[in-house]
Amino acid sequence: MTEHKVVVIGAGMAGLVSALQLAQQGLSVTVVDKAEQAGGKVRQIMVNGAGVDSGPTVFTMRWVFDHIMASIGTRLENELRIKPLNILARHFWEDGSQLDLYADPHASYNAVVQFAGRSEADRFAQFCKTTREVYDALEGPFIRSPSPTMAQMMTSLGPRGLATLASVGPMRSLWHSLGKHFTDPRLRQLFARYATYCGSSPWEAPATLMLIAQVEMDGVWAVEGGMHALAQCLMRLGQARGVRYLFNSECERIELTQGRVSGVRLRSGDSLHADSVVFNGDIAALRTGLLGPGVKNAVSGRVQPRSLSAITWSMHAPTSGVSLDRHNVFFRSNYASEFESVFQQGRLPAQPTVYVCAQDRGTGETVDGPERLLCLVNAPANGDKRGFTPQELADCTNSSQDLLARCGLSLQLEPSSSCIRTTPQDFNQLFPATGGALYGQATHGWMAAFARSNAKAQVPGLYLAGGSVHPGPGVPMAAMSGQLAAAALMANLGLTKSSRPAATSGGTLTH
Ligand SMILES: Cc1cc2nc3c(=O)[nH]c(=O)nc-3n(C[C@H](O)[C@H](O)[C@H](O)COP(=O)(O)OP(=O)(O)OC[C@H]3O[C@@H](n4cnc5c(N)ncnc54)[C@H](O)[C@@H]3O)c2cc1C
Repeated sequence: MTEHKVVVIGAGMAGLVSALQLAQQGLSVTVVDKAEQAGGKVRQIMVNGAGVDSGPTVFTMRWVFDHIMASIGTRLENELRIKPLNILARHFWEDGSQLDLYADPHASYNAVVQFAGRSEADRFAQFCKTTREVYDALEGPFIRSPSPTMAQMMTSLGPRGLATLASVGPMRSLWHSLGKHFTDPRLRQLFARYATYCGSSPWEAPATLMLIAQVEMDGVWAVEGGMHALAQCLMRLGQARGVRYLFNSECERIELTQGRVSGVRLRSGDSLHADSVVFNGDIAALRTGLLGPGVKNAVSGRVQPRSLSAITWSMHAPTSGVSLDRHNVFFRSNYASEFESVFQQGRLPAQPTVYVCAQDRGTGETVDGPERLLCLVNAPANGDKRGFTPQELADCTNSSQDLLARCGLSLQLEPSSSCIRTTPQDFNQLFPATGGALYGQATHGWMAAFARSNAKAQVPGLYLAGGSVHPGPGVPMAAMSGQLAAAALMANLGLTKSSRPAATSGGTLTH
């Protein structure tokens, strides 16, 4: 057992995975987090006695977790109960139309035939083929690469990958590219929404982000006990390997000795010695000096605009009207105005899209009475600059509720004992220096994905992990960044080879 001591700042997905993997390798690991419990954005809020998942709800890329579990000698099925969902998501429009996308590509094709006709369904099938190719081209050279550069990616893509990228027009926006695939505006809108999975606008995100649609089409799972159970599981596995977790413990300084990381100082005044530190907060906190002057310039990569924040309503309430599935999206006809409001004007959207996660549905159970819900609308990440007025919040709430009602769903979003609202200001307090941005930096423009820092900071002994560094936001991606940080640390110590996530296998739509 080596005496190398590691402090991981943050028990978000990446921090939990880093800690687990480092402890598995025999290092002495302490995780400190300012929050009361593990998970970071993967958090659960108690509403009227019911635990409501109030962060991520869509669990994809399970192969990432299969690989993490295999690396510590277990299997995901042994640690967590997870079920694949038949319906990936249910989509509603205010004109009364509705479309389900399924895990079974043929069922999705048939649903699109019913929804928009056979020609459009054929275009959908072609789109699926393209997203498969884009995903396959980029998974190795970008997603699983520890530190991709444009030049290195171009070399690794090979002629076929380059041809795939050229065909989607990577310099174009996702919105522009989708206009070439679909003639039905509703399908263009539906697939444009995937840009928001990494907190970006479809009008500014590169066309290559269509690969996020592929991630979802490769499967969505429901975790028994909620996403929160995933965080608990990672913590339990870490504890079994000796990781020490200190909650309600904010780190206010990363200490350096002779230019090298030597420990952390907590708000309580306590200091912890560390030979290495993994920082799982947003890199904006380092850049703004929140962790001390010694690490202010520790992050490489370009500064990009902040990603989306959100207003969320965590609820335990009955629903009536339309039949919800687990993941539901309610669209309006004017999509562009939402992103203009948020990114150009820094305002709450007057016409938001509304996402509703009905957490008791989708896995065969019958719902009777109050159910656990998370409703979400996109919002600007300016929670550190201004608070929204009660009137602005009320307007956004009413507009969201009106949309749901026009689509047939009756639901009260007013804050009450059965409905707890979280705003960008609240998210900014939970995740310092972010303004409430939930996905790190926005992926705006073709080069944005390369602007993210890799796991190695510019200060010896400091490593970075989380949604604000490569490969980017989302539960599986953040988990991968945790693996990459652990691997970089171990490689630096010369103790082990880097462990990169294994390749996935996905299905292709053929009909
Ligand atoms: C409402 C919402 C919905 C989302 N939906 C999805 C989804 O459906 N699917 C999906 O894959 N992803 C989704 N995401 C994104 C996903 O949750 C995140 O990308 C991912 O969980 C981020 O993990 P992370 O490792 O970056 O850590 P974070 O979750 O950002 O956690 C960082 C931790 O560090 C701690 N910390 C920070 N600074 C300090 C300090 N100085 N001292 C001590 N502790 C500190 C914080 O308290 C926090 O616990 C969603 C996020 C939100 C908020």
